[in-house]
Amino acid sequence: MTDVTQAFWQVAYIVAALCVVLAIKWLSSPVTARRGVFAGELGMLLAIIGTLLRTGAVNIEWILIAMVIGTAVGAPLAYLMPMTSVPQLTALSHAFGALAAALVGTAEYYKDFAEGHPTVGFKMVAIVIESLLGYLTVTASVMAFGKLQEIVPTRPMTYKGQNIINLFLFVVAAVLGVWMIITPTPLWVFPAFITLSLLFGVLLILPIGGGDMPTVIALLNSYAGAACAAMGFALENRLLIIAGALNASSGFILSVIMCKAMNRSFMNVLFGAFGQAVTSTAASASSKPVKSATPEDAASILASARRVIVIPGYGMAVAQAQHKLRELTDLLTKKGVQVDFAIHPVAGRMPGHMNVLLAEADIPYDRMHEMEDINPDFPEADVALVIGANDVVNPAARHDKNSPIYGMPILDADKAQTVMVIKRSMNPGFAGIDNELYYMDRTLMLFGDAKSFVGEIVKELGKT
Ligand code: NAP
Repeated sequence: MTDVTQAFWQVAYIVAALCVVLAIKWLSSPVTARRGVFAGELGMLLAIIGTLLRTGAVNIEWILIAMVIGTAVGAPLAYLMPMTSVPQLTALSHAFGALAAALVGTAEYYKDFAEGHPTVGFKMVAIVIESLLGYLTVTASVMAFGKLQEIVPTRPMTYKGQNIINLFLFVVAAVLGVWMIITPTPLWVFPAFITLSLLFGVLLILPIGGGDMPTVIALLNSYAGAACAAMGFALENRLLIIAGALNASSGFILSVIMCKAMNRSFMNVLFGAFGQAVTSTAASASSKPVKSATPEDAASILASARRVIVIPGYGMAVAQAQHKLRELTDLLTKKGVQVDFAIHPVAGRMPGHMNVLLAEADIPYDRMHEMEDINPDFPEADVALVIGANDVVNPAARHDKNSPIYGMPILDADKAQTVMVIKRSMNPGFAGIDNELYYMDRTLMLFGDAKSFVGEIVKELGKT
């Protein structure tokens, strides 16, 4: 390798590492998110170029073939999957990333074996961690994809002695791992270790309900990152260690944030069988009286308001109502109404779900407010307009100790002068529970699909 090539790959690695750090920083705000994606892509490109230069005698044809296959699978997936399926897409991409890490570990193991110096010691520690987390993440992510896509039953699948069996398998895998680290083992041990890791991934997801998959996916993101960092140790590649560690920690922090926002513990997410529809509560709820209103009523209330706070939720995403909402915002703003958007950290079905959809419709970023910032403003708002949100505005979270969402921080929509809720029926949301907000004196239910209903309001407002 010439000095120039040596210098180039080292610089490429440093810049790539910097790009990864900046990407994560910028991705944390909608204002800078695009820049973050670009920095991440640039970092990845530099990392690939740097690695090709560093390793020198690589077989470029094989790499090109792999790139073509990767692009042929990845590009259509990204284009064909709708926005509401991003959690599934993320699960699949984790499965691919983890598979790559696990296969590299496996290849390293067999390469050393074929060269007559079986891997043991520190390098084997890295390969054991990489393979365990990598293979486990592959099957767990595929299962998570299946549950979200409803190919696999979404209900938690539990059976007697489940935790004991899982623990037993984990202990057997750990024993095999330690054995491989200490001394060269018989040929069957590594494949048995891989099989146990793959099986463990499936068993880990079985007892978790489909609704908890987004949180689990954030956790799997963390596992895939840790597998990549371990791969960095096995290959003595610092860039992989940095990128993997960042991925592992950011995935972990994200899952902690999501658990906190839902007031759930990790244990509860992993073993809690949450998200099962409590149909009895829902059925009894529908018999209580509610006040409903028409698009004309809604338009006249909005037109006479000074301040409106919009609360988007999962239903807005399902209905793809964000563009109509933008039209409504423009019309109201022209009439001198101040319109703000209140974003709950777990509104929708994935972190940042609402921010992404509203940004797609060009709603200005300075109109979107985090829960803690906007909550004190609700008592001053003339109207809280709830669009397809349910659990994130359920006051039961504040006082009903028996509610599954008790303790979850909510948006204080009930404190506004008038509350208007757009949804199709009295059906519950994700947590499967009734919402007392709908029965308040100041609440008007606007029954209909979010996109059509907002469209009707826009039409009415346009007439005035
Ligand atoms: P939600 O509680 O699931 O309620 C969504 C509401 O939207 C439903 O009540 C539904 O009522 C309505 N809806 C559905 N399609 C609609 C349409 N086409 N038009 C109008 N309304 C429609 O949603 P949320 O308030 O956003 O709360 C999110 C929930 O997901 C929380 O419980 C959170 O803990 C959970 N969660 C979130 C994440 C995350 O990362 N964001 C991850 C895991 C779990 P109708 O059927 O009557 O229309």
